[in-house]
Amino acid sequence: MKPVRIFALLLSVILLLSLFAGCADAPAGTSTTAARITEKSSSQPAGSSETVPADSSTVSQEATVRETEESTFDFEIPVRMQNGGDLRFLPEEPLTIPKLSEMEYIRPDADKLIADLEALTEKVPGCSDAEALLTDYYPIAVQISNFTTMCSLAYFHYSMDMNDSYFADEYDYCEEQGDIAEEKENALYAAFAASPCRDELEKAYFGEGFFLDYDNFNVGDESYLDLLKQENDLLAQYYALASTADYTNPQDIEKNHEASGQIFIELVKLRQKIAEAKGYENYMDYSYACSFKRDYTPAQAREYLACVKDFLAPLMKNPNIAGPYSYYSYWDESKSVDYLSAAAERMGGPIWEAFRFMSGHELYDVSYSRNKMGTGYTSYLGNYEAPFLFVDPSSKDLVITLFHEFGHFTDYYYNYGSIGDHETGETYSQAMQYLAFAYADPFSDDARASNLRATVSDLLVYAILQEGAYADFELQVYALAPEELTVEHLDAIFGQCMKDFGISGVSGVRFKSNYWSAYLHFFAYPGYVISYSDSAVTALQICRLEAENPGAGVDAFCRLLNRTHGKKFAAVLEEVGLDSPFEEATLEKTAAFLKDAFHMN
Ligand SMILES: [Zn+2]
Repeated sequence: MKPVRIFALLLSVILLLSLFAGCADAPAGTSTTAARITEKSSSQPAGSSETVPADSSTVSQEATVRETEESTFDFEIPVRMQNGGDLRFLPEEPLTIPKLSEMEYIRPDADKLIADLEALTEKVPGCSDAEALLTDYYPIAVQISNFTTMCSLAYFHYSMDMNDSYFADEYDYCEEQGDIAEEKENALYAAFAASPCRDELEKAYFGEGFFLDYDNFNVGDESYLDLLKQENDLLAQYYALASTADYTNPQDIEKNHEASGQIFIELVKLRQKIAEAKGYENYMDYSYACSFKRDYTPAQAREYLACVKDFLAPLMKNPNIAGPYSYYSYWDESKSVDYLSAAAERMGGPIWEAFRFMSGHELYDVSYSRNKMGTGYTSYLGNYEAPFLFVDPSSKDLVITLFHEFGHFTDYYYNYGSIGDHETGETYSQAMQYLAFAYADPFSDDARASNLRATVSDLLVYAILQEGAYADFELQVYALAPEELTVEHLDAIFGQCMKDFGISGVSGVRFKSNYWSAYLHFFAYPGYVISYSDSAVTALQICRLEAENPGAGVDAFCRLLNRTHGKKFAAVLEEVGLDSPFEEATLEKTAAFLKDAFHMN
């Protein structure tokens, strides 16, 4: 069996965390075939069960227990599938949802899915009847939904028991076939985009603007699929090497540094060829536009990163931020779900509704088991129109991971698994970490203040700055000439990025100049990490709203839940009245909030 990979390019969304020490959430594109799995952000290695006594001067206004009012936001629960569900053409019938452990896995028929996608793609150019095309497309959408449901179940069973070779193989099958199905699915959308039925198709099903992403889609031929295969082979080498190591251990990172670094360099060179095959000069341009279908370019990301360096990196001169301010004061972790329940009830509205759905159908697993994967993630099961949440409680970050994943769960529940982009998705999860701490009951005011401050510290250090530095590193590396790609040179660039973002002095392996050779995302999800950084700026705005005016953060979260499906990050933020992280003024405001939170004024 090959080492199990993480749905590298399989259609949608996978945010992988700590499978290999210290990874952050990871990614994938946004096409509908995607297996929807969203993992918790790397962050929080700082999470500690130690209680840091909050000196009274640091107990800020957010320490006050919230009034138990329901959110004032008038939230309308979407009619089934109306808000972007992929199967909204099906008759509206109540679905029976078995317990997670009792859901049946049957290997999905990838051959039939791929053949049906190809057949419809061939039919499109000669057809001017949108209704006929949709009639053919709907059964394919059902197959896609079933495919991703089964892949999610295979991944769930594998992550429950990593010694289970049956589900490891099934997951591997899903991932390999998913790569091919994704390319075929994209080709079908490109055909729709070029068809005279385009506008009618958007209006009737796909949503306005959906085909814009497929206008310049360059359908991959055999030689392109061969490049993808080479990429998968290199990835398998990385996973094989990583499985011999514990990447939280500096000696293990150094032991594999040269070999793993060479694999990465080969990947960078190969990916340049992949970009060229798709008509792009630079792989990052390709990745931002095609893999992640972002509404911002690498050039805009560079401007954002420059502002982060200017306004936020200097905050790290305060040694408390990554030190005392970053400690959580947990309660008894065995009661984490009870705490989340109490917090969800106090937040009320759609958040409480999502919790009751999760709890009533037992759509979560936080049980302890020796063979469980050391991570947390949320996934969507289209066949049951239900998300589920997975957390390994052996990590000391159980509480935060649970809160984070519940943010994803709430989004998936209300938006039928249609995650949209990663930026929007990670805003829910990162904001929920703060909101749940703000509303959960059993805290003393001091403990609450300390937890809220630790959350804010996490978002700054491990999401905005660390992942921002990583994004900067990636942008620089993919702009190098092949002869400049050496392990020593990449060490130097990575080390400089740590300095530029003010985090070279933070303790932990991920801030050392050799860490790039261990970090999963650079290998499996090239171009992804910027999403953690900019979404954390938005999450911090929700934290700030809540801190300034209790209830206002929850309202913003609910407005975000009610976003128009199909809109991308910047458009979503505009729609719900939140600031864009790509504006300098937003980062100035963020810096002012953080200075206040860390008592730097
Ligand atoms: Zn996440």
